[in-house]
Amino acid sequence: MKRHSIKAKITFWYTGIVAVILGTVLAAVLIFVNKIGLSATEEEVQGAVTGFVGNITFKDDTYYLDSDTEFYDDGVMFCVYDEKGRLLYGSMPVDFPKQTSLQSHKSRSVKKGHKEWMIYDGVYSYGNGKALWVRGITSIHNIESYMNLAIRAVLFIFPGLILLIGWIGYVMIQRALKPVDDICRRADEISGGDDLSKRLPMPKVKDEIYYLTERFNEMFERLQQSFENEKQFSADASHELRTPVTVLISQCEYLLENGELTKEQKEEVEILLKQSQRISQLVSQLLMIAREEKTVNAEKFEEIDFGMLTEIVAEELEIEAEKKSIKIYTEMDENLIIRGDQTLLMRMMMNLISNAIFYGKENGYVKILITQADHRIRGQVEDNGIGIGPEHMDKIWNRFYRVDKSRANENNRTGLGLSMVKWIVKVHNGTIDVKSTLGKGTTFFFYFPKE
Ligand code: ADP
Repeated sequence: MKRHSIKAKITFWYTGIVAVILGTVLAAVLIFVNKIGLSATEEEVQGAVTGFVGNITFKDDTYYLDSDTEFYDDGVMFCVYDEKGRLLYGSMPVDFPKQTSLQSHKSRSVKKGHKEWMIYDGVYSYGNGKALWVRGITSIHNIESYMNLAIRAVLFIFPGLILLIGWIGYVMIQRALKPVDDICRRADEISGGDDLSKRLPMPKVKDEIYYLTERFNEMFERLQQSFENEKQFSADASHELRTPVTVLISQCEYLLENGELTKEQKEEVEILLKQSQRISQLVSQLLMIAREEKTVNAEKFEEIDFGMLTEIVAEELEIEAEKKSIKIYTEMDENLIIRGDQTLLMRMMMNLISNAIFYGKENGYVKILITQADHRIRGQVEDNGIGIGPEHMDKIWNRFYRVDKSRANENNRTGLGLSMVKWIVKVHNGTIDVKSTLGKGTTFFFYFPKE
């Protein structure tokens, strides 16, 4: 789907509509001004002809023209014709069509080529059936040139004006929609962060934004509620499952040690015991996740020597490694103190190292490096085991995700190990990443802020 921002859409429509309206209004104004200009010229020529006739005195059968009569006055030229249309006096513009017929008391425009004139013919009778025609001629070139100038100015200014209007519109819309942007940003922060109990600040004015914010907060409330219900449910369910599973395990163990069982029965009970241990592992990890996600408290963090902690975990897993003839190498800087939760950090290292052993090759190695890097602690757990295919890389952090589902039953694999690791790293403000080549090995890197 094409992506258009609301701001761009509104600006586009608003500018388009303003451009059409403004264009229509400007065109109407230009046409109107042109019309007014023409009718003013009509009146001007008519007035000039009436004024010119003042120079003529009619008496009985004859007329007298004042000796100082001028045939040009303020842009208007005058011609005097007899009743047969013969030119008696006067002058006319160079290109003016001389044959233009006389039409009594009527203003009209006459065109020749690019030139245009406004003329007015007045007829004045005297004596017995005699008449004089007076024609006034003025060029309407002036109005046209003004109009052309105006049109050119409008065409030049118009695009700039529209751009300006569009820009002003965009700025205004941006301002109007800023609260919506803020809501989106804050909502992103809340939904992407760990604390669903945060809420959006309510605006002071009860407008649309207020109601939108209110709806968002209600939604967060419901989300938080359902997350808490889910966590509570897994905590309760795992807790309830723990006792029966422990009973199952101890009964199996009792049967194996004290029961008089046939070889087949023993094998059956051993399978039962293995499966019960697997359930027990799953239940205790689930319980840990459910409980600790709720109760982890950074204020109760203590100072821990991370190198020593890792050394202890590595030693604990030595026996496990020996079963596959895997060698564990450790390299630690001294005094790498971190503020954290000891149980959680041990669980994290336990998960990473036991994974490296479990997915490692016979006679392989696991290298653990804990060093100082600037103001941080850098950790690395490397193995030369089976590796992880690129298509699984971003999924291995998900709960219950396992690359090879058929290996799940071995050694109580639950698919929860790395999701816990990721969460523990996050709780301690750290970061973790992984690099792996299928068939060659895997390296997990992590960084923690140093105390
Ligand atoms: P699991 O209980 O299955 O080990 P994890 O969450 O610890 O679950 O790991 C998820 C998946 O990531 C594993 O199923 C495994 O395929 C892969 N994985 C984890 N660590 C390694 C490793 N060191 N080498 C190869 N694959 C690994």
